[in-house]
Amino acid sequence: MLALVEDALREAGLSAASLAELATVDAKAGEPGIVEAARRLGVPLVTYPARELARVDVPHPSDAPLAAVGTPSVAEAAALVRGGELLVPKRKSRRADGGPARATCAVVRRPGRGRLAVVGLGPGARDLLTPRARAELRRASVLVGLDQYVDQIRDLLRPGTRILESGLGAEEERARTAVAEARAGRAVALIGSGDAGVYAMASPALAEASDDIDVVGVPGVTAALAAGAVLGAPLGHDHVSISLSDLHTPWEVIERRVRAAAEADLVVTFYNPRSRGRDWQLPKALALLAGHRAPTTPVGVVRNASRPDESSRLTTLADLDPATVDMMTVVTVGNTATRNVAGRMVTPRGYRWQESAQGQEGAE
Ligand code: SAH
Repeated sequence: MLALVEDALREAGLSAASLAELATVDAKAGEPGIVEAARRLGVPLVTYPARELARVDVPHPSDAPLAAVGTPSVAEAAALVRGGELLVPKRKSRRADGGPARATCAVVRRPGRGRLAVVGLGPGARDLLTPRARAELRRASVLVGLDQYVDQIRDLLRPGTRILESGLGAEEERARTAVAEARAGRAVALIGSGDAGVYAMASPALAEASDDIDVVGVPGVTAALAAGAVLGAPLGHDHVSISLSDLHTPWEVIERRVRAAAEADLVVTFYNPRSRGRDWQLPKALALLAGHRAPTTPVGVVRNASRPDESSRLTTLADLDPATVDMMTVVTVGNTATRNVAGRMVTPRGYRWQESAQGQEGAE
């Protein structure tokens, strides 16, 4: 029995170390040769009812097992019953004494379980890419992402990594591609700038994914945080991010959220604040906030945070010139307590905490 299995593996160029299990029909569960072979190979012995095996479509059915155990195939059917690719079709044992072959064996490769890593690359600077993100990029055999982000990390990939890059837009297609590659058993990294779950690829991808793949999320430093660090401490109290892109969201919805943030006195970071074809939304949103905040409220504008051409400005609600804002920019608007302190944007942790010198509530 052992020789039959080992020969089949060897001739197919397969290592015995890759063997996952031996499978046969229930009637053979106690067959000493099979039990002992599984023990020596160090794999579990799995058995199936004859009726289940009889339903499996196999290339070489025959009458003998049908008569003996009630299924036209044991070896091929038991190998294929949970799916996979038939690598070695049914073969028979050879007996040293030249007697009739008594055992058959077939080998199937089970599809590996695919892995989809959704990886945030951070805002741009290499040292803001987390070690975990780096490890996932290295682990991937397929990388899916926007061409400009692929360029950001191409040097970190293993040689031979298949790169599926696409241009702006095509989000759904990228998501589908990534999931399909993972379903085929591959290790896929789907990348996005900042955090890949923030206005990015994680949601469309996971909306496509079913439970037949593993999914791993790697958080990244999102633009609001990168910009916050440049500006000072604008996010010291409750804050919200709002995307001003009305590509996927009706303006009425965006406006309702801006109004709510204005009323709730939340610090607001605007993503996708302004593009060539989309220039009235930012002034409109700022006007809504100005309904509840002083004209002197600090506003931070950060362009290309952590990238070589980073720039930032601290201005006010009254003085912000929207023309200085583009799609590489985030705009953070302070709440009614936010101050410009020595050129830095500072939002106090809370009024009461500020007043009580010992910071009873604010202890970190
Ligand atoms: N997933 C990204 C956001 C994608 S939406 C993240 O977590 O950061 C794209 C918008 O993010 C841009 O229009 C811009 O407003 C903002 N953005 C992304 N990277 C930025 C950076 N390095 N500096 C400033 N803004 C950035």
